[in-house]
This record gives sequence, C-alpha cells and structure tokens, in this order.
Amino acid sequence: MKGLMQDHPLLISSIIRFARRNHQRVEIVSAMGDGRRHRTTYGRAYRRIAQLAHALTALGVAPGERIATLAWNDYRHFEIYYAVSGIGAVCHTLNLRLFPEQLAYIINHADDRMIFVDPMFVPLLEQLGDAIPGVRHVVVLCDEDELPSASLPDLRSYESLIAGHDEEYDWPLFDENTASSLCYTSGTTGNPKGVLYSHRSTVLHAYAAALPDGISLSRRDAVLPVVPMFHVNAWGIPYMAPMVGAKLVMPGQKMADGEALQALIEDEGVTVALGVPTIWLALLQYLERSGKGLGRLERTMVGGAACPPAMIKTFLERYGVYTRHGWGMTEMSPVGTVNTPRPDWAEMEPEERERLMAKQGHGLFGVEMRITGDDGEELPWDGESRGQLEVRGPFVCAGYYRLEESPSHKPDGWFMTGDVATIDADGYMQIVDRTKDVIKSGGEWVSSIDLENLAVAHPAVAEAAVIGVAHPKWSERPLLIVVKQPGAELSRDEMLAFFDGKVASWWIPDDVVFVEELPHTATGKVQKTALREQFRDYVLPTA
Ligand code: AMP
Repeated sequence: MKGLMQDHPLLISSIIRFARRNHQRVEIVSAMGDGRRHRTTYGRAYRRIAQLAHALTALGVAPGERIATLAWNDYRHFEIYYAVSGIGAVCHTLNLRLFPEQLAYIINHADDRMIFVDPMFVPLLEQLGDAIPGVRHVVVLCDEDELPSASLPDLRSYESLIAGHDEEYDWPLFDENTASSLCYTSGTTGNPKGVLYSHRSTVLHAYAAALPDGISLSRRDAVLPVVPMFHVNAWGIPYMAPMVGAKLVMPGQKMADGEALQALIEDEGVTVALGVPTIWLALLQYLERSGKGLGRLERTMVGGAACPPAMIKTFLERYGVYTRHGWGMTEMSPVGTVNTPRPDWAEMEPEERERLMAKQGHGLFGVEMRITGDDGEELPWDGESRGQLEVRGPFVCAGYYRLEESPSHKPDGWFMTGDVATIDADGYMQIVDRTKDVIKSGGEWVSSIDLENLAVAHPAVAEAAVIGVAHPKWSERPLLIVVKQPGAELSRDEMLAFFDGKVASWWIPDDVVFVEELPHTATGKVQKTALREQFRDYVLPTA
C-alpha cells in the first residue's frame, strides 16, 4: 500500500523559490577581485536567477546539457547554480587550479556547451582554443564595459546576457532524480572522474548537513564558505544557506588570504566559516602577526584533509572558536561525518576530550558507514579495528559519469572510499590514512596522519607531511617533511625528540627534511604522490 502524501519532487529551484518568499532581505555579500564588496539579497538574486534562466532558454539550452563555470565564490556564480539546475540543465563546475590539459580533458569529456568564466580566466580559456571544440558560447562574469576582447566563441558579458529578461520564471517540475550538477574528482591517478549529482541528492544532502549536529546552519548565522564553489558545490553551503536563511558571505578570490578573511569575518559578523586546514593555517598566521581577532565567529568546520588537534586547540583557547572536524568526499556530496561533542564529553579530562574532538566525527543521517578488513569482512565498531571505510546512502554516488565500470563500487553497491578508518562504539569515525598513503614498517601500519598531527603541534612547525620511504630491513620507514613557521628555528633532532613518549618508538620517523613549502593538490590537500616521487631515492640514515 502506498502512502497518501503528495508526490512532489525535491528540486533545487524550490530552495531559491522558498528563500525569495521567506528570506528575501537576507544578504549575500561577495568580496570582488577589485577589493569592492558587492551586496545583494536572496530576493534580488532570485530575480536575476529568473532572468538568467530566460537567457539560457533563449539560447536554446536544453534539459540535460552541461553548462560549465570557471569561477570564484561570488553572487553571480550563485545565480548560475540555480538558473542552470533550475531549468533542468547540468551545472558543471570546473576547478580553476587544474592544468590546461586537464581542463580541456574535463570540458570535452563532459561535452560542455557553454562556459561562464571569471574575467581573470579568460586568457586560460583562450589558451585552450581549438582543444575544446564543443564550446559554443563563453560568458564573462562582468559588466558589458568590462568585457575583455578575446577570440572565444560568442563572447559576451554576463550582465548583457541577462539584461531585459523577465524577473519571474515558471520553474519546471521534473523527476527529482534528474542530474543537477557535475564535479570531477581531482584523482591523483588516471583521468579525473565525473560525479553527477541529482536534484534529490543535493536537496537531501542540504537537509542532512544543515542539522544541528551537522554543520548546524540557521537564520541566525552568517556563513563564510572558504571552500570553493568550483569543487563539490562548496560543501553544499550555496544550497543550505538560502534553505535556512543564513547570510551568505563569499570570499571571491581571497580564499587563501588571511588578512582578507579576517576582515570579512569581522565586518560581516560571520558566525560559521568552513575550509580545509591549509586555509586556516593562513588565517591563524595572520592573526598571530596582526594581533587581530575573529569578531562573532563561533565555529569553524574543517575538513578535506585531517585537521591537526593543535589547530583545534588554538582556535578554541586563543579565539574562543569551536572547531567541528568533518570528513567527506566529492562522491558524497560531500559531507559524510561531522564531529560534534556528545553531552558526556563535558565531564571528561581535557586530554580525553581533545582526543575525541580530533576524530572525523559521527555519520550524518543519510550516510551509512562500515569498515572492512582485507578479506572484505565487516570489522567491529570498537575504536581499534582499522579497515577500509565504505559508505552508502541517497547522496553517495552510484557510479561515475560516462564510465562503464566504477573501480570504487562493490557488487552490493557500497562505495569504497579509499580511506582507512576506525569507528568507535558511539559511531565516531577516525581516518587513519588513505589506503594509498599507508606506511607499512615490518608489516605493521604506521599512521601518517597521527604523525603529521603530532608534528604540527610543535610551535615551530607550520605544516608537515609523512611518507613511506624504502628501507632494506623494514621495507618502508616514515620520513617527515616539515615547513617551519616563518622565522622559527628547529633542528632535526629537536623535531624527532618531540615525538618521544607520544607515540610508539618504532613509529618515530627515521629522518626529517625541511622544505620551503609542500606541494598541494587543486583542492588544497598535500600531494603525497608528488612527495613520494620527489623522495623516491632518498636514503634514510638508518638504511
Ligand atoms: P575530495 O573528493 O577531493 O573531497 O577528497 C576526499 C578525500 O579527502 C577523502 O577520501 C579523504 O582521504 C580526504 N579527507 C577529507 N576530509 C578529511 C579529513 N577530515 N581527514 C582526513 N582526510 C580527509
């Protein structure tokens, strides 16, 4: 027997229609490239989204067609998200940190028909030239009088494209499983793979992630996503914020600029900010130098890479800001777990609480997790057993775009994350390593994440990475690679002595190398493959 409730599809257009009625005066503030701050509201954004939807329809954009963006987080990018998905087309966000060849590959693989581009990336597109033959229209995110001249097909400005169109649109209703947006994973091996989100998965993810023990967003918040809209939809914030009526503060191209982020946080009354650890490193360094504070900021959500406990501690003890450590993947829309404290943690000794806060957190409702051993058997949730983390749920991908066979799905449909994790009896998951980054010394696992977290707890260390290097006796031993804090002094022996008593002695790295900077991927993770390549022939003193 079927229930007797309305069969109304979960569509992205319903979010902005809701915001326009219920949160029309709530602001969207964008830091623009020229230093200006652009201010608009959900009400005004709605009207421009309707205009853009008309413009796209007039250009003949059909449902299912891929429309790409190459842009920073700002109000125009927000409008494109809603107009493109709203008419039933697919919003394909391009990662602007990719190499030209990778971009061309992705644009062609997705068969993008049209690209919306930030003015600063027009030369990059021009450089791609004949390599992207399918692109028929290029729209630059600017006013008509700012339109650069370039030899690109049907080049026009965003403002001239939408001008004059009706500010109301009759949003179509269609199957909620229709594709809404597309994002390619920045895989370190093989070609990038496309994750194709649906309206249903996007709306359900936004519902789940906005809950109090998720990211926790409400109309009392002002949220700053320092996570890019060009990668996994900025963790879903552009959908969650208008859904709940939170003020949306967009950093534009100032994503890694501590000074600009501090000013935005303070001036705009930001209460929640989200980003990868490297972003917060830049902010904390700026605060240290300038002596400035974080205004009304209550919490940060840190994910994308392991958040060192030292960072959680600094935010809390120096700035009164609570960190929610989270974990997710492009394939998961992306939020999978969030670390919010259980009420009984309040009674604990501080060290025990800190140990628990460093975990990647409990699953969101909608994300089912399990860990499995080498034999594929499920392992217990005892906080000790470590195995491959697998997930399933309505906002986890079922396969990849235009790829016959997924290398990451089991026959029973569970998605293999490629992460090695433990899960405790309360459901708190902790990532131990990427399967590819695991270091095996004499057949035993050494957690590179644990060692990196410890290293950055040293006051002279800004960033650290641990990789396995070949060893004649143990097959592999850990090598620690360190970036020092600006102006700090630190010797190899001091660094190694810092690990004494904090980890098993056989975990302590065999050597330390100091470098000016670590290589990062296009999404801000330390690029271990590049480091392994660089130190492939490194001879450890113990070898
Ligand atoms: P991406 O699909 O680019 O978002 O990358 C997903 C991968 O980032 C995950 O499979 C993890 O290896 C890593 N990751 C994300 N969040 C965390 C975290 N909090 N701690 C450790 N690794 C993380």
